[in-house]
Amino acid sequence: LYVETPLGEGVAVPVEGNAAHYLIGVMRVKPDDVVLLFDGRSGEWAARARDIRKRDLVLVCETRTRPLEHVPDFWLCCAPIKKGRIDLIAEKACELGAAKLQPVLTRRAVVDRLNLDRLRAHLVEAAEQCGRTALPELGEMVKLDALLREWPDDRWLFFADETGGAPLEQALRAHPGPAAFLIGPEGGFDPSEREAIRAVAKAVPVSLGPRILRAETAAIAATSAWMALNGD
Ligand code: SAM
Repeated sequence: LYVETPLGEGVAVPVEGNAAHYLIGVMRVKPDDVVLLFDGRSGEWAARARDIRKRDLVLVCETRTRPLEHVPDFWLCCAPIKKGRIDLIAEKACELGAAKLQPVLTRRAVVDRLNLDRLRAHLVEAAEQCGRTALPELGEMVKLDALLREWPDDRWLFFADETGGAPLEQALRAHPGPAAFLIGPEGGFDPSEREAIRAVAKAVPVSLGPRILRAETAAIAATSAWMALNGD
């Protein structure tokens, strides 16, 4: 279970709301049962259930059961897409091990606002489900030109370009190190955006194959491929 309280030996964590309902009502946690907690900073902790009431309980941290995970240095930068689909991207990016999810506003995006709280809730749920001990960072939405202007010079920018680019495996093997993938919206990038992306010094246009993938498929495929080669 993810909690915002910084964890440490002896720390008592009050739990209420949905998390308490899940523990008390669904998992039937009883006094002295052990619940595993993580705070995204200090690894995973075994905590003992105390003071269980109808709608809340307290978890008292005892021992650290796992250190903070190693997070591969990979960002997924993607245009906002429709609700359920961007939620899927958040869930899978977290499961696959991404360090950061960065929403990027592009000209053809059909969605220009994102509910970051909802996306963050999906990241937390995915982290809990897959046993991560760190949460991926969730960036505020930035415009594409601002993202490109400030692109760090120590990070590859793999540009998923459905109009053509280097074969994926070859491009990934030739450019090891900190990386990001940039995925367009349902309508793709417009030609001037494509040109601006390609002008970034660290940009590496890649193809994900001969078929046009949905944005969420492209995001998941790209993240899986990078992780398979670099994400130990
Ligand atoms: N512009 C396209 C169109 O309307 O025909 C569709 C864009 S596609 C649904 C969304 C995004 O997924 C693209 O902008 C690109 O980043 C990525 N993508 C999809 N298929 C791809 C492929 N075969 N190679 C590289 N990127 C791909």
